[in-house]
Amino acid sequence: MADGMTSAPRPRTAGTGGQGWLQPLLPFLGLGAIAVCLPLVGDSYWSIIASRACIYWILVSGLNLVVGFGGQIAIGWVALLTLGAYTTSVLTAGTVTPAFSPYLALALSGVVGAIAGVIVGLPALRLRTFYFAMTTLGFATIVTQIALAWQSVTGGGVGVAGPVFPAPFDSSWGFYYFCLGLASICTWMTANIAASRFGRALVAIRDSEVAAEAAGISKPMLLVVVFLFSGAVAGIAGGLFASLQSYITPDAFTFDLSVLFFIAILIGGRGSIMGPLLGTILLTVLPEFAAPLVAWSTFLYAALLLVIVLVIPGGIAELLDFKNRRPLERHREIIPRPELLTDLLDANRKGTPLTLETITLSFGGVRAIDGLDLELRPGEVHGLIGPNGSGKTTTLNVISGYYAPDNGEVRLNGAVLAPKAPTTRAGHRIARTFQTPRLIGGASVLQNVMIGGSVDGHCTFAEAMLMLPRHLRDEATLRRSAMAALAIVGLDLLAAVRADRLQHSELRFMEIARALMLRPAFVLLDEPAAGLSAEEIRRLGALIVAITRTGTGVLLVEHHADLIFDICDRVTVLNLGKVLAAGTPAEIRSHREVVNAYLGA
Ligand code: ADP
Ligand code: MG
Repeated sequence: MADGMTSAPRPRTAGTGGQGWLQPLLPFLGLGAIAVCLPLVGDSYWSIIASRACIYWILVSGLNLVVGFGGQIAIGWVALLTLGAYTTSVLTAGTVTPAFSPYLALALSGVVGAIAGVIVGLPALRLRTFYFAMTTLGFATIVTQIALAWQSVTGGGVGVAGPVFPAPFDSSWGFYYFCLGLASICTWMTANIAASRFGRALVAIRDSEVAAEAAGISKPMLLVVVFLFSGAVAGIAGGLFASLQSYITPDAFTFDLSVLFFIAILIGGRGSIMGPLLGTILLTVLPEFAAPLVAWSTFLYAALLLVIVLVIPGGIAELLDFKNRRPLERHREIIPRPELLTDLLDANRKGTPLTLETITLSFGGVRAIDGLDLELRPGEVHGLIGPNGSGKTTTLNVISGYYAPDNGEVRLNGAVLAPKAPTTRAGHRIARTFQTPRLIGGASVLQNVMIGGSVDGHCTFAEAMLMLPRHLRDEATLRRSAMAALAIVGLDLLAAVRADRLQHSELRFMEIARALMLRPAFVLLDEPAAGLSAEEIRRLGALIVAITRTGTGVLLVEHHADLIFDICDRVTVLNLGKVLAAGTPAEIRSHREVVNAYLGA
C-alpha cells in the first residue's frame, strides 16, 4: 500500500519557478516612463518636488539594504545626508580648499559618506535593535552640532551656498534629469545586490542569523560592505540636496527627515525595492497635496505608519505581491526523488572521519556533555539517541561551532575545528538542520535553499552590484544546484513560494535541501522526523540512506526508534551527557540498560 503512494500523480501547486525576467521589470519601466515624461505635465514647482523625491530615493535605496533587507534599525541616516551636503558645498565654494568642480565634489562626498557609513554602522556588529538605533541617532546629533559649531568651514548658523551644476543641469528640469539618472542607477544597483548572494545573505541575517551562520555567512563582513555602499549613496544624495536647496544651514537637516527615510522603508515593505521606492515618492509628494497640513506632517507620517503597521504589516510590497496571495493546494505531498542525488553530489567521494575527543561542556551547574567520544564516518548513518536533555542538540552545536567545549576537540582531516566559529563550518562542508526549522521566512523556498550554497559564490560585492559576468555565472550555478536540491527532496513545485507559507514537514525537507547545497562531507540532522507522518518518515529514511551512498556521513538525532534501527549503521546512546551504549543497531536493541532506561519494554 505504501509503495502505491509513490506512483501517485505529482502534486500540482501554484507558483512554480519559471517566471519571465521581464515581468518584475515592468513596474520599474512604467514608473521610469512617467518620471521621464513629467516635465510635459508639471510646472517648475513640480520639478523641485520631483527632484527631491529622486534625491531622497538615492539615500533610501542604500538605507533600504540596511533596514529593509538587513533588518538593522538605522534611524539617524540624515547624518550622512548632512555630511554629503556640507562636503559638496564647501569643496565647490572654494573658501577652505581650492574650488573643486561640482562633479568631483559630489564624488568625494560619496567617499566621505562611505567612510562615515561604516563608522555609523560599526556598532551594529555588537549592538542589536534599539541599542543600535540609539547610536545612529546620537551620530545624527553630533554631526548637526559640528555643522553649527565649526563656523570657519560650515558657516555655522549662517550656512553655506550649495553647489551649482553646469549646463545642461543648471535649469530646474535639467537638474531633475540629473537626479533621475542617478536615482535610476541606484535603483538598478540595489536591485542587483538584492538579487545576488549578498542580498540573500542580508535577508538571512535578518530572519535567522543562526541559519545564516551555518551557511557560512559572516555578518560583520557583509554589514561593513553594505554600510559602505549605503553611506556612499547617502553622501551623494547630500550633495544633490545641497544643490536643490541652493543654500544650507544645519536646520535644513531635521530629525523629521530621518524619520521620513525610515518610514518610507517600513511602509514600502521589508525586502522589497519597489515598495520603499513608492513609499519615498508617497512621503515626498503627500505633503504637497496637503499643503495646509504641513505643520502636521510629522503627525501624518506617524498616523500613516500606524495604519500600515496595523493593517498591512508587509507594507506596499505585500499589496503588490500577487504571486504569494494565490492559495496553495491544501493537500500537498512531499515525494523526494533520491535517484536525482547524483545531479548534485559526486558519487563515491572519499572522505575522512569526523571525530569528537572527550568533549565536555557545562552550562552553569548542568553537565550537558560529559567526556563524549564519537567518530562519524563518511558514507554512514550514525544515530544519536537518548532521552530529552541528554545532550544531543548540544553535541550538534559543538560540532557546528555554536558552542566551545570546556574540554576536548572536534577534528576533521587531522585538523582541529575552531571552537565557537560557526561560520567556518560551511567551508569544511559540514551542514546541518535544526530541531526547530530555521527558515528565512521572507525569502522564497528557492532563495532559502540557495543560501545554503553561499560559500560557493565567488563574485565580489561590486561585481554583483554591476551585474558582471562572474556574478551571473555564480547565480546560474547556484540556481541550478538549488533547483536540483529541491527536486531531490520533492519541493521543486514550491520553489517560488515564500518560505513562511510552507507546512512544518515541508520546512524540514527544505532544510535538508539547504544542507545538500554545501555538497556536504557531513550532515547533522536534529530530529528531522519530528512532526512528520509515518509515510513521510519512511521517505525521509530512504533519502538519508541515499545521501550516505554518495559518500556523505550523516549524524542523525532522532526519537523515532524505528527510523534509527532501520537506517543507521551505528548508534550512540546518550544519557546525562555520557555515552550509555554504542554499537550496531542490533547490539543497541538488545542492550539491557538502554532498553530499561530509554526504549522501554
Ligand atoms: P537534547 O537535545 O538531548 O534533548 P540538549 O542538548 O538540548 O538535549 O540539552 C542538554 C542539557 O543542556 C539540558 O539539560 C539543557 O537544559 C542544557 N542546555 C542546553 N543548551 C543550553 C544553554 N544554551 N544554556 C543552558 N543550558 C543548556
Ligand atoms: Mg535536542
